[in-house]
Amino acid sequence: MAEPGGQLVDLRSDTVTAPTPGMRAAMAAAEVGDDVYGEDPTVAALEAEVAALFGHEAALFAPTGSMANQIALQLLVPPAQELLCDADAHVVTYEVGAAAGYGGISTRTWPASGGAPDPDQIAAMIRPDGFWAVPTRAVAVEQTHNLAGGQVIAVETLRRLRGVVDEAGVAMHCDGARIWHAHLADGVPLAEYGGLFDMLSVCMSKGLGAPVGSLVIGSAERIERARWLRKRMGGGMRQVGVLAAAASYALRHQLTRLVDDHARAARLAAELAPFGVVAAPPRTNLVPLDLRRSGWDAPSLAAAARERGVLISVLGPRIGRLVTHLHIDDDAVDRAVAVLVALLRSRPAA
Ligand SMILES: *Cc1c(COP(=O)(O)O)cnc(C)c1O
Repeated sequence: MAEPGGQLVDLRSDTVTAPTPGMRAAMAAAEVGDDVYGEDPTVAALEAEVAALFGHEAALFAPTGSMANQIALQLLVPPAQELLCDADAHVVTYEVGAAAGYGGISTRTWPASGGAPDPDQIAAMIRPDGFWAVPTRAVAVEQTHNLAGGQVIAVETLRRLRGVVDEAGVAMHCDGARIWHAHLADGVPLAEYGGLFDMLSVCMSKGLGAPVGSLVIGSAERIERARWLRKRMGGGMRQVGVLAAAASYALRHQLTRLVDDHARAARLAAELAPFGVVAAPPRTNLVPLDLRRSGWDAPSLAAAARERGVLISVLGPRIGRLVTHLHIDDDAVDRAVAVLVALLRSRPAA
């Protein structure tokens, strides 16, 4: 919707970015082949690069983060067996029942705990094998946590959780759509995160700014099987090196700049905090707005802001969200702050 440099300040999501000029040039120059035949050198190079970043043997390029997650879950949890995850996890809230639909996977959730899952609570939930019960086969966590407002799970918590799953003999998956942000916010090397999980998914089209694409990461054996599952789900792609080139470019040129997105999110939150609408200081690029004490409901605030050239997300009747990304510079933050502060100072039109 909002073109870079255009009128609108689009804070709805980090998925709204368009390829940058350098990225478009990289895409145009990409060497390609038929990737279903395994003949696209640009895709192969991206897969090898991302696997190495996370210290795993292999990776597979997938059209979406949902498909990458669902491939991993099907690899880790056989039909009619169980995945444990957070009640607000993307894999059970925003993937339209895919775990059940594609994998026949039974899911059970722990109460939403965002960036602070409790390893002891999860340990107590894991069910052993037995003819009377659904056996737990995997635990999934989300880094950063989307619905928790981009909160980062501390690496110490993940290490404790790894101890729990090892003890129980179950696998651990990371929905790492925004793991890049966690890496920069907490200074944890990507390979350290990689070493804590059996499989991970990572997204190239959120903060990194590629137009399309995610990767699923794991052992060579699992990724070979992942290729088959991807084809079965309709995700085999042909001369897709043009998209892999965008993703490679993003890793090289648009990764470390995420710290600027975090700083701008912090500034947005600081400017709006006096109005009592910022539940917690943002750790990364997401700023959830809790409007309960503001007199505004989220749809009215979003509509009023839109009239003034600022787009925000509505996540619930009184919950909004601001997201910083590649096309939100300091000037855009200034404009958004001016509009939102003026609206929050006033009362909504009756
Ligand atoms: C965006 C996102 C995904 C993947 O979404 P797609 O739209 O399918 O690419 C997965 N997990 C989280 C936490 C996300 O924010």
